[in-house]
Amino acid sequence: RKAAIFTESVIGISCFLRKSPVGGYSNSSGDPTMFEKYWRQMGDKATVVIPGWQHISYFSDVTNICWFLEPKFAKEVERVHKAVGNAVTEGRHIVVGTGSSQLYLAALYALSAHDLTEPVSVVSEAPYYSSYPSMTDCLKSGLYKWMGDARSFNKEGAYIELVTSPNNPDGHIRRSVVNRSEGILVHDLAYYWPQYTPISSPADHDLMLFTVSKSTGHAGMRIGWALVKDREIASRMTKFIELNTIGVSKDSQLRAAKILEVISDSSERAGSSAEGESFFEFSYNLMSERWKLLREAVEHSGSFSLPEFRPGFCTFLNRVSESQPAFAWMKCERDIEDCESFLQGHKIFTRGGKHFGVGTEYVRISMLDRDDNFHLLVKRLSAIHI
Ligand code: PMP
Repeated sequence: RKAAIFTESVIGISCFLRKSPVGGYSNSSGDPTMFEKYWRQMGDKATVVIPGWQHISYFSDVTNICWFLEPKFAKEVERVHKAVGNAVTEGRHIVVGTGSSQLYLAALYALSAHDLTEPVSVVSEAPYYSSYPSMTDCLKSGLYKWMGDARSFNKEGAYIELVTSPNNPDGHIRRSVVNRSEGILVHDLAYYWPQYTPISSPADHDLMLFTVSKSTGHAGMRIGWALVKDREIASRMTKFIELNTIGVSKDSQLRAAKILEVISDSSERAGSSAEGESFFEFSYNLMSERWKLLREAVEHSGSFSLPEFRPGFCTFLNRVSESQPAFAWMKCERDIEDCESFLQGHKIFTRGGKHFGVGTEYVRISMLDRDDNFHLLVKRLSAIHI
């Protein structure tokens, strides 16, 4: 039991309560195990075999700014963005990271002025991704410092604003809110994929972060990538990763390349194939089914509310599609002050609003768990009547 519990304060990432001590399952982390089903169906199509002699060197391509970037992985990143139409890759440097978490830290390092007397402020509009504060401040860096909600930020001077779109936890499309000339933006686009939100146009920002964790579901591969316009920033991010882990696992990059290749193949075939749905059609339909079940459960209970989203035209699916975020940002109605504890009493394990910089009447629920767990969640939720 002890081994199964990691707390957010220890590792600063997600709270991975697998199975709670009182017999409930947790919907508090964003572990994307829901996608396993698709990859099982793919069988050997997505299998990678790596002989023992391969990937012995630290180096991948010494002519690239990011010298540990595997060319095949870079090619598949460009290809998947082109197939999905969710980001511009032309004129960008790709920096690979051990998850986008490492790239987040690399970006802070690269964007901070190293000769300032005080740390640069780091802000994001609340509710923000719960790991930003702890990741930013875990080493008490002299280069940058977490300053909380971008909406109430009024300190003079340089700042970095994180724009997470669609946002974790609430799923809304976001833009920068501070809008001062001393600001630098980092766009965390972990969820800008067709299963979660309509793709309106290719994102075209200076520094964009992506990850396989939420796009394909392969969180355990620990692969993310940054698309960076400025050569010097890309070079500093690379330096950070060199200092931090001397590069990124080639085995993982090659496996990620294979997974992305299968996704691009399936997307290009979409509509015409006898070989089944594309990955994004499959995951879109699954998310759609889950959001329908969750909304029915919430309605049946009458004790909670969920955000509403307007449908939009998705250039990838070539039709109007729904926003169906990876997390449900649920509000306890009636007079429940601490929604997280209240739900825990009903064997539903969520993460409360205070982790995201807002009140305890909110909780975040993962929509990406395996079927059994998700169905248990909706069953328990719909049975709550206050
Ligand atoms: N950014 C956001 C907004 C996330 O939700 C997550 C994962 N929970 C990450 C970054 C980190 O992803 P990775 O697994 O690639 O480190």
